[in-house]
Amino acid sequence: SSTVVAIDGPAGSGKSSVARAVARELGFRFLDTGAAYRAIAWLVLERGGSTDDEPTVIAALEGLDVDVTVDAAGQRVTIAGHDVTEPIRTERISAAVSGVARVQAVRAAVNERFRAIIRDAEPGIVAEGRDITTVVAPDADVRVLLTADEAVRIRRRFGDVGGDHQQVGARLTARDAADSTVSDFMTAADGVTVVDSTDLTFDETVEAIVRLVTE
Ligand code: C5P
Repeated sequence: SSTVVAIDGPAGSGKSSVARAVARELGFRFLDTGAAYRAIAWLVLERGGSTDDEPTVIAALEGLDVDVTVDAAGQRVTIAGHDVTEPIRTERISAAVSGVARVQAVRAAVNERFRAIIRDAEPGIVAEGRDITTVVAPDADVRVLLTADEAVRIRRRFGDVGGDHQQVGARLTARDAADSTVSDFMTAADGVTVVDSTDLTFDETVEAIVRLVTE
């Protein structure tokens, strides 16, 4: 059967790029679960709504068409017929997405989709998010909590998006605080290996996780 690698961690931990590199090295598929939450946030905003309004978020879920296609080329995300792979990466979506994440009906629906993708992935898959090691794939072969000191995560995020350093930090802290009320991704659950990338390079971080899979 296929090998499942589950990676959770806070914003700016490098989960997405690390998980993608681990998948490439192992010849596995890759699933970025945050993209589905971002796609729903995008649809709510596209319709002129607010993600803080639960009925509006649930309305966007109705007829949900989140298609997370995982193939060799990577992951594309479409919702209600729109390819939102690129537009979901904006700061506007990052600021709005936590409202989507706290709606339990949304979590139940996307988790069902994630589990189907994980079940069908050959020869293996690396799935990353906030609750993969605990809720989506608690039986994964390898479960990792990828962390880094907050100052380091802010510095890395600032390196990616630029702008005002203090504002980047405030936004990252606010999103982690909001998301922490939904899932506890700051402490490792039983059986989850902590990989702290504070003093590791990108390649060292990837290798540390690859080693957990191959050893
Ligand atoms: O990982 P990323 O920053 O793209 O995730 C976007 C948002 O999606 C998170 O801030 C969180 O609100 C939500 N999320 C979640 N559970 C996951 C993955 C993401 O609640 N497994």
